[in-house]
Parts: sequence; structure tokens; C-alpha cells
Amino acid sequence: MMDKEKRRKTRSRCPVFSRCGACKHIDVPYEEQLKKKKDILTDLLGEFGEVEDMVGMRDPHHYRCKVTRVFVQGKGGKILTGNYHEGSKDIVPVENCLIEDSKADRIIKDIAELLTSFKMKIYNQRTGYGNFRYAMVRTGKNTGEIMVILVTRSPVFPSKNNFTKALLKLHPEITTIVQNVNDRTDSLVLSNKNNVLYGKGFIEDSLCRMKFRISPGSFYQVNPLMAERIYKKAVSFIPDGFKGIVMDAYCGTGTIGLVASKKCENVIGVELSGDAVKDARVNAKINSVKGYSVFQEDAGEFLERYYNDGEKVDILIMDPPRQGSTPEFIDTLKRLSPEKIIYVSCNPITLKRDLALLTEPRAGARGSYKVRSITGYDMFPFTENCEACVLLSKSSVSAD
Ligand code: SAH
Repeated sequence: MMDKEKRRKTRSRCPVFSRCGACKHIDVPYEEQLKKKKDILTDLLGEFGEVEDMVGMRDPHHYRCKVTRVFVQGKGGKILTGNYHEGSKDIVPVENCLIEDSKADRIIKDIAELLTSFKMKIYNQRTGYGNFRYAMVRTGKNTGEIMVILVTRSPVFPSKNNFTKALLKLHPEITTIVQNVNDRTDSLVLSNKNNVLYGKGFIEDSLCRMKFRISPGSFYQVNPLMAERIYKKAVSFIPDGFKGIVMDAYCGTGTIGLVASKKCENVIGVELSGDAVKDARVNAKINSVKGYSVFQEDAGEFLERYYNDGEKVDILIMDPPRQGSTPEFIDTLKRLSPEKIIYVSCNPITLKRDLALLTEPRAGARGSYKVRSITGYDMFPFTENCEACVLLSKSSVSAD
């Protein structure tokens, strides 16, 4: 009994826990993780208002719908796959990860075996010799569609038709296979050069009863089950049949704004990435959304021009990357003075900084913003990251 207890304490349930570094809390009971994350949010954001209990997952395992592996040539020619050790170029062999989609892991394992039997030359970062670099598997959790992306250094992929056939024979559930040609030497996994080997070259997933196209390089939340819950919360702050203008800043492929469009007539998206904007337009079309437009620009610059043109925003949704928004964006936003601001954040530290700016009174303004609700979402179980959805409205008006 003692031995068992001791083993449980010393041995992780993940065989590469000590070397991988991605899941810091893989052995912490889930309820405890949720409590810790709520405490972190309360420490950082408590000064703005009460933090509600974290919304967690029923089963927090295997949630990642995007799995990427680097390939290396092991001793005796055997091809191995793994992840980069956090912050280094060392590779940690990974086969069955507790947070990744299991089917994706099985496909990647078989890709490694096929590459060995096809005698494929694996790229060596040090010497620059070899061709095959990474495999990425993206799955539509709700549609079951699966995209495999094979990243090579050169456009030449020896025996690619036979390789594709062999992979499809092992995994007929794969719906599309794409070769991505990436000869960059930095850490970016994908370039924008795609060559479709099988199927449509993209997958679709559904969220909040809408379809979303996922191209090889486009951003899509890695935990769609939780993304759906946070989107629903964000959109719940918009009244049904809302006639005003809703802006979705940092909109990616348009997800939150398009879900919001079910409740309102005018939605404007703003996003820096050209590929994401293209996908957002396709997504508006495949969901027959009217009254939606999306602009490719830096969100701060767009907002400034929009304000100078005398336009208005009634409700603003913002979902910036980890570094948060900018003082310029927030300053213009306060001048635009929407009724409500719905802030979706993946980094509570930059969220705190931005909320401090948003709630700071501004001379001559019609009242400053007050935080009305803060809810944490466990989008990344077992890791240290946590997501939050915050509602702000004018201190002179009451929140719905
Ligand atoms: N709301 C989307 C995307 C959130 S991720 C979703 O839930 O899927 C943050 C997005 O901000 C990314 O798509 C990124 O390309 C975009 N982004 C980063 N910097 C930006 C900037 N300066 N201006 C506009 N968009 C930016």
C-alpha cells in the first residue's frame, strides 16, 4: 500500500513528463487545477470584480484538435517523432499524448513507420540535409473531418502518390492530405506553399451550429468544445435582434462575429492575417450570413481610421493574442465609446493591464467603463494557460 502510494507520488502518468514541459499539471487532480486557475484569475483580476468559478471540461483529456510533430532520423535509420523540448531544439519522443487527439497521434505514428519503409530522407537541422520535416494533423471534432499536412523542405516528394495511397489505406478516415513546402530555417512549421495531394485541401468543423473552414495555416481554437462555450458566453451579452453595430476585433477566421450575427444585423470583423480574412469571408458565405464585412488591417489602425471617419460601434468584442491589445487601440476605443465591450482573453496578465486602461476614467468622456462579469474557461487543461471572458459597460448605464 505504502509502495503504491509512493509510486503514485513520484511517477508521472505521462512517460515524458519530466522532459516535455507542455503540461505542468498532468498529475494534479482536475478539480484542483480548476481551483488553482480561479485563484490565479482572482489574484490578478479581483480588483475589477468577482471572478466566477472556472468553467471546466467533463473529460479534460485529448482535447487538442491540432497536433504537430517534428521528425528525426534515429540510429539505424529508424524514423522517430516528437516535440521540441520547451524552449530548446532538443526533441522529446512522443507517441501517445494525454492532451492530444488520439486518432491524430495514431496517424502520426503510422506516418513515421511509412516514412521508414519508403526510405524517406529526414531533414537534419544542423546539416541542412534531407527533406521531410514535420507532420501536422488537424481534426474537425464535430464533423470528424481530418487533414494531414506533410511538411517538406523541397517541393519534390519522392513516391508521393504511393505514400498517399499507403497512408489512406491505413487511415481511410483521413479526408484530405496536403504537402506544405517550407524551406525556412526558423521555427515556423508551415509556409504558405501548399500542394493538395488528396481531397479538398481544407477541412470544416462546426461550432455553435455554424460551419467553419480550416485551411492548413489558418487559426482555429485548439479546444473547440471549450471555444464553443466561451463564444456562447461572449455572444450572450448581445441582446437578441440587436440593431446596432457590433465589431469583432482580432477576429481570426470570423468565428465569434459570425456566431454573433445570429442575434444582430451588422457585424464588422478586423484581422491582421490575410489568410484568416479570406477564411472569414468564406465562412460568412457558407453560413449564408448577411450584414457581415471583414477588414484586413492592424486592429488599432483600423479603429483610429474608423473613428476619424465619424463611424460608430455599439458593442465591441475583442479577442487579442497573448500580448493583449495596445494603448492606441484602447484609447481610440474609449473615444468611440461603445455601450459594451466583451473581452475574450487567453492571457490574464495582459488582460489585467488592458482592463486597468479601460476602466481608468477619461476626462470629458461620458462615463468610464466598469467590469460587470469575469468568467474563466479552462481551454487548456493540464497546462498553465487560462482563458477568460469579461464584460465591461459604461458606469453610467446599467448592464443587461
Ligand atoms: N477570435 C478568433 C481569433 C483569436 S486569436 C478566434 O476565436 O478564433 C487572435 C487573432 O488576432 C489572430 O487571428 C491574429 O492573427 C490576430 N491579430 C494579431 N495581431 C493583430 C493586430 N495587430 N490587429 C488585428 N489582428 C491581429
